[in-house]
Amino acid sequence: MSFDNLGLEPRLLQAVAAMGYTRPTPIQRDAIPHVLDGRDVVGCAQTGTGKTAAFVLPLMQRVAARPGGPRALVVTPTRELALQIEGVAAQVSKVTGHRVAVVYGGVGYEPQTKALKRGVDVLVATPGRLLDLMERGVADLSSVEVLVLDEADRMLDMGFWPQVRKVVAACPRKRQNLLFSATMSSEVMRVVASTLNDPVRVEVAPATRPIEAIEQRVYPVGGQEKSRLLVHLIQEHGLERVIVFTRTKHRADRVAKTLRQAGIACAAIHGDRSQSQRQSALESLKSGRCRVLVATDVVARGIDIDDVSHVVNYDLPNTPEDYVHRIGRTARAGKTGTAVSLLAPEEHGTLRDIEVKIGAVLDTHDAEGFAYAEQRLVPNPDRAATRPVRTVFSSSRGRGRRRR
Ligand code: AMP
Repeated sequence: MSFDNLGLEPRLLQAVAAMGYTRPTPIQRDAIPHVLDGRDVVGCAQTGTGKTAAFVLPLMQRVAARPGGPRALVVTPTRELALQIEGVAAQVSKVTGHRVAVVYGGVGYEPQTKALKRGVDVLVATPGRLLDLMERGVADLSSVEVLVLDEADRMLDMGFWPQVRKVVAACPRKRQNLLFSATMSSEVMRVVASTLNDPVRVEVAPATRPIEAIEQRVYPVGGQEKSRLLVHLIQEHGLERVIVFTRTKHRADRVAKTLRQAGIACAAIHGDRSQSQRQSALESLKSGRCRVLVATDVVARGIDIDDVSHVVNYDLPNTPEDYVHRIGRTARAGKTGTAVSLLAPEEHGTLRDIEVKIGAVLDTHDAEGFAYAEQRLVPNPDRAATRPVRTVFSSSRGRGRRRR
């Protein structure tokens, strides 16, 4: 399968080649032809599946580059995602000549206002700032032809839906809609039903299951010993480009401090950090200046960093969905990766919830060469029996449920 027979024009294929993509990912293969046909599309896909290019490429073929605009609008929950999408669109625009702009909160209005006044073809935005700019009379959505709602489930989770609804209402009724979501909850389905027009549904591997390529390891450890174990794993087990997740901002800062004291170059990213601090933290991991990025869930979903070799759950996340999102930072686009979870005795219930969600029992390991000093609790290896029904997803519909 190549990009050649998806219906993309030569100039778009040139952009694809310039980005170094040789083969489309499944979501690209399945979504691009429908988007080019002008259909509404619902894409059920996590980040890491190539979904950004799955909508950016065809929408840039669909909308013209000419004065006025914006003719394509992408609404996404976080600044990091907005910047990532703008990055892909900007690369394509080198070939197509579209004007691309991005607007998000937490920074000054001036440059964004100027960009909008100059005119844009493709606008990428977070909902709050876009609404602000609409209310200030700077953003006018009356010429939008293609509307993309990216990570719809997260925008719902984060309470952005009232703003998103206003944005949608400000777009012309006659338009093409593309909606992407990692999960298809009943809430998302309601949105789909009321916003979209006879959508084609495109799905890659059920979103609630982690990508097969991720090796998932659990290290039972005493709660007080996690930081020592983390340092040991990073230094002795060859963890190279790592994202460490903690439950709270406070813990993120503390872990970052411990790592620095151990001589490990690291940066921290969480909701208390300014936009420029977050950007520079991301850059430092991307450039290799830092080996470790410590992050909380709120800011970390959707971060696009290539070649993260390991995701470490310093604390297990509050929800199984967050586990799936976290470990999706590694093993992107066909690469392999490892997710490591440090399991304190009080986190066994959370682990079980995750295992039920992903439909697999995770292997537990002892960290080789680590001197365990504290009491730890190793989960019962027979715990698989606690799962009520095993659902196996297969590519052929209707044969998805394995007999018990
Ligand atoms: P996304 O799911 O859009 O966040 O993309 C995840 C990563 O996959 C990004 O780093 C993309 O640059 C990369 N990617 C997207 N499409 C392809 C492709 N067809 N071939 C190789 N890498 C890709």
